[in-house]
Amino acid sequence: MERTKSHESQYASSLIEASLDPLITISIEGKITDMNQAKVDITGIERNKLIGTHFYDYFTEAEKARTFYEEVFAVGAITNFPLTIRNKSGNLTDVLFNGSVYKDDQGNILGAVVVGRDISEQKWARELQEANKELAFQNDEKEKRAAELVIANKELAFQNEVKEKRAAELILANKELAFQNDEKEKRAQELIVANKELLFQNEEKEKRAAELIIANKELALQNKEKKKLADELIIADKELDYQNEEKERRSVASKKLEAFTYSLKLASQYSLSLIEASRDPMVVISPEGKITDMNEATANITGLTRDELKGTDFLDYFTEPQKARHVYQEVFAKESVADSPLTLRHANGKLTDVLFNGSVYKDDRGNVIGVVIVARDVTEQKRIANELTEAIVFAELAVGIAEEAKEKAESAKHIAENAVKAKQQFLSNMSHEIRTPMNAIIGFTKVLLKTEFTAKQKEYLHAIKMSGDALIVLINDILDLAKVDAGKMTFEQIPFKMEASISAMLHLFETKIQEKNLKLIRKYDKNIPEVLVGDPVRLHQIILNLVSNAVKFTMKGKISVNVSLISEDDKQATVQFSVCDTGIGIPESKIEKIFENFQQASSGTSRLYGGTGLGLAIVKQLVETQGGTISVKSVVNEGSTFSFELSFLKTAEAAEIESAIHDLDTELKNITILVVEDILLNQLLMKTVLEDFGFEIDIAENGKIAIEKLRDKNYDVILMDLQMPEMNGFEATDFIRNIMNLETPIIALTADVTTVDLAKCKAVGMNDYIAKPVDERLLYSKIAGFVKKPDHKKRNDLHEIAITEDIVKSCIDLAYLNQRTKSHPKLMMEMISAYLDQTPPLILAMKQSLTEKNWDLLYASVHKMIPSFSIMGMGIDSENMAKKIQEYASTQIQSEGISELVLQLETICIQACVELKEEFNRIKQTIS
Ligand code: ADP
Repeated sequence: MERTKSHESQYASSLIEASLDPLITISIEGKITDMNQAKVDITGIERNKLIGTHFYDYFTEAEKARTFYEEVFAVGAITNFPLTIRNKSGNLTDVLFNGSVYKDDQGNILGAVVVGRDISEQKWARELQEANKELAFQNDEKEKRAAELVIANKELAFQNEVKEKRAAELILANKELAFQNDEKEKRAQELIVANKELLFQNEEKEKRAAELIIANKELALQNKEKKKLADELIIADKELDYQNEEKERRSVASKKLEAFTYSLKLASQYSLSLIEASRDPMVVISPEGKITDMNEATANITGLTRDELKGTDFLDYFTEPQKARHVYQEVFAKESVADSPLTLRHANGKLTDVLFNGSVYKDDRGNVIGVVIVARDVTEQKRIANELTEAIVFAELAVGIAEEAKEKAESAKHIAENAVKAKQQFLSNMSHEIRTPMNAIIGFTKVLLKTEFTAKQKEYLHAIKMSGDALIVLINDILDLAKVDAGKMTFEQIPFKMEASISAMLHLFETKIQEKNLKLIRKYDKNIPEVLVGDPVRLHQIILNLVSNAVKFTMKGKISVNVSLISEDDKQATVQFSVCDTGIGIPESKIEKIFENFQQASSGTSRLYGGTGLGLAIVKQLVETQGGTISVKSVVNEGSTFSFELSFLKTAEAAEIESAIHDLDTELKNITILVVEDILLNQLLMKTVLEDFGFEIDIAENGKIAIEKLRDKNYDVILMDLQMPEMNGFEATDFIRNIMNLETPIIALTADVTTVDLAKCKAVGMNDYIAKPVDERLLYSKIAGFVKKPDHKKRNDLHEIAITEDIVKSCIDLAYLNQRTKSHPKLMMEMISAYLDQTPPLILAMKQSLTEKNWDLLYASVHKMIPSFSIMGMGIDSENMAKKIQEYASTQIQSEGISELVLQLETICIQACVELKEEFNRIKQTIS
């Protein structure tokens, strides 16, 4: 083992010795403790001289060498540390050092072993490489430069060419210049000659100028002499001028004097003639009141001569001498007076109204010597004034008369208007009044016709029925026309299924068409949106009129009803309806006329086919007031086509009233009907018709009785008349729906299908309507429609679903409640349950107060509901609805629309309760 060890150590030391890399061992103090031959070689210092010396002594940077071995001891091992060894002779060797510590068996550090690697060669190689790279780079650069030079050369060559060209041009230019120079030289020579000539001329002129200067001097001297002489002459002249002026002045003064004296004479003559010429009387009066002078006008106005007047008393000539005296005195007192009214009397008694103006006149010392008075004849003015006053009086009178006339006209207009109103009222009332018994007549005739009679009797009965039918049509037409005239024709906007609605209506003609052996062809464009918004009742009325004309005027062939979509956009659809027949046709000359009131194509029409000529007039009104157009094409004996176009709004809503037709032969058993109708005849008729259907019926005379009956018994359908004493159909329905909460289908019986009535029917919760005279088939179909469906409340359901769908999204929003209660579950539950407790009684109070018309209570109960809307996030709409109800309630009258609003609010509140109950349960679950 010992031997092995010594072998190993020998082997190691021979390896070390053989290493060409310098190897050194260093003590902890950094002193060399051993090395190999390579180290000796690299430093050129003997082994024993190296031992004990400092490791860093043999490097170019001793400090760096020290850091190296210190780091070796500190870290344990360092690699590739670059140092440069300087050998004895000063040669430098670049070395990369690796160093690591070596330890004894106990792990104590004994020293470090450092191995260096000569990298001078590598370094040189690298430098060579670098140098090569540099050269390569330089080559590239040179190449680049050469390329640039080539380009530059080309550029230069180009420039040379350009320059050559330029040079050639310059040579040409030079030649030109040389030529020009020659020319200029020539010109210069000429100029020189010319200059010489000028010079000579100049010299001549100079000479001449000198001579002139001398001559001028001579003249100047002569001028001076002359000026002196002239000055002397001027002085002499001035003297003469002065003498002349003096003479002139004197002569002018004497002339002026003459003219002045003359003009004075003229002036006095002039003023005298003016005074004389004056048409106003002028009088001069002495202080004593005697006339001293006057003009001609005075003589004329008094009818006396100047002589007669002179010296007489001024006052004598006035109708009121006292007043004249007063004026005259006033002149003296005030020195003047203006526009005093007096009346002069002519000798012949004629009076002249005058206005007096007077002023005193004085002598040179200012003493008053008399009065001058000028009078102005104002007779004419007075006359005009009088006439004016009269005219004013007359005008006032005329105004009075005119006003009276106006009042009369207004009252006449009022009377006329009242008369028109009365006429309309009368028409409405009469047709209403006529209708009821008429309906009974027709109804009973129909009933009678079903029983056994002799052929003759049946014929009479048919005659009665036909007359009745004709009368009812006439009455309805008159009523419609009266409405159109009064501008009362209104149109509803409700969603309806057009196809179903039209086919239900055409159904009514089937029997008639079959009877006449005609064919009915229907074409309905499937592109027409299923539900459209419009007035189905009016649409029926239009088509009904056209089809019944077609049936009436067609003996053989067919009648086609065509409905097609003309255009459609996001909002609306325009539909064309045409009714085409193969009947008698209309002569071209009459085609314009047939849309006018009471116009038929020929005078014989009424006799042959009946009718009044009102139908098309109404149809045209109905189409045009809805913004549509109607036209007709017709060929005599071939047929006619009436077509009209109407636009309908599109909607996503469901249709409100379905008009499916149920056949009479469908078997219905054990059906009980409540007929609410006040008129005995109608009661009886309904009873007969319904019993004939095999239904069981009860009759109530008004709404109140109906409600009582409904408390005791269930009915399948209620037929409800609208106008009744005590409690009308609307009120009764409202009560049934909202207080009794009954959902029994209610069909309104309307004598007069107005849109207003229909809207009201819908609002209070009726399911459908039927117009009187009741068409049995339609009535049966409608009743069947309701009783066949397991859930009766067909329309109501639709109605509720529509509302509920809206509500599902927006009825409650607990964001506010969450925020207020900071989502505290218990608080939230408390709030919700408070709402749930309070709301149902409030709803009840609201409904009851509406039925009882207790407006104050209605107002108060709605008032109590309002705060909860915002707490439960029920939206501003509910609040507005409530406020609207309050507004209605404060008017203290049953307004249209209030029941609808109450119903809507009730629905919303009930829905809110349902949702809140769910919410309450949800919160409850989260905390349990
Ligand atoms: P009525 O039918 O009551 O006479 P209308 O105003 O409906 O009144 O019609 C006016 C007239 O137009 C009719 O009298 C008839 O002469 C003519 N007319 C209307 N429709 C047709 C038709 N389809 N074929 C032939 N003539 C028609």
